[in-house]
Amino acid sequence: MKRKHSRLGLGMPELVFVPTQLQKNVWRVVENDRFMENPIMYIIAATKFNVLIDTGVNTSNLLEYLLSGDIEDERFATMPYLVINTHNHFDHIGGNYLFSPKGGPKHEKCVDLCAGDGDTDYTTNFPETCLSAAVGAHSNPYEVTRWLENGEIIQLVPGEHNEILKVLHIPGHTPDSIGLYYPGANLFFSGDFVYPFSSILLNLPHSNFNHYVESLYLLLQYLKAQVFERIRLCCGHSDSNLPGSDLVELWALVENIMQKTAEYKTKMVFGMPCHLYSSDKFELLINGAFVKNIEKLLIKVASKFEKRRLSSNVPPNCKQLQYDAGALYKNGNESKGI
Ligand SMILES: [Zn+2]
Repeated sequence: MKRKHSRLGLGMPELVFVPTQLQKNVWRVVENDRFMENPIMYIIAATKFNVLIDTGVNTSNLLEYLLSGDIEDERFATMPYLVINTHNHFDHIGGNYLFSPKGGPKHEKCVDLCAGDGDTDYTTNFPETCLSAAVGAHSNPYEVTRWLENGEIIQLVPGEHNEILKVLHIPGHTPDSIGLYYPGANLFFSGDFVYPFSSILLNLPHSNFNHYVESLYLLLQYLKAQVFERIRLCCGHSDSNLPGSDLVELWALVENIMQKTAEYKTKMVFGMPCHLYSSDKFELLINGAFVKNIEKLLIKVASKFEKRRLSSNVPPNCKQLQYDAGALYKNGNESKGI
């Protein structure tokens, strides 16, 4: 879910789904929905199946669309789908029921419906947590058939070590948020963890700024250990080609917030006072509950972060935030400007 304003300028309002090829086997599909969320779904053709990342709002039948042959790659009309949700918000899970309805059975073209296992109670507490009621949407119940652990590998092409998706838990926007790193294409599918020029929402009932800071730090460290300068971020809204290095700007904003040197505007959102922080490309909208005690909370976040940054031992209760923890923390005494 993002704050309303589309920056995609699709210019084709009569089409519900607008496909664009990103790479040889990677496409994006943007949905023109009545909520102006314009979620971006991604499809990747693997050897025996396609991966579908998110299922949109359900303006129209996504599964029928994918099988219709409208996209110029016959694999999308013939091979089954491994569906992966980046997080449980109505604009990313709306078509889930087409693949795996609550109580089953799965559609014959559905291999599995996957979600991150960072907080399975949150994910399965449907429909409260998907926020459909807040915007007047209706989301049909669905059944997750495979839970994805942090660090799990999904093999796209047997025997090809770069043809994988690596699951990274990135809680903050929601507790179950995940991202998917595809080294063979230098892409990172970020869901709503990051997108430019619209507010990244950390003000929602289950958002957590503390977790967001830690996720961003760990993600940035992880991606910097890859071919960082070539990585493009495929966001859940707004942009499918954002340079990975832009995360450095986002991190600088977060650091300024923690150090209380960032300017902000106060906004009422859903009747709650929120802080809106901005950099050139990014906006962060922070929870009203944080605003009330923001001084205390920022000190807490900053000190927890500092401890984690300097520690070579990851606390056991932070399991969901461990990526390659050993590698991540061995340079723990680096300066803060990462
Ligand atoms: Zn969202």
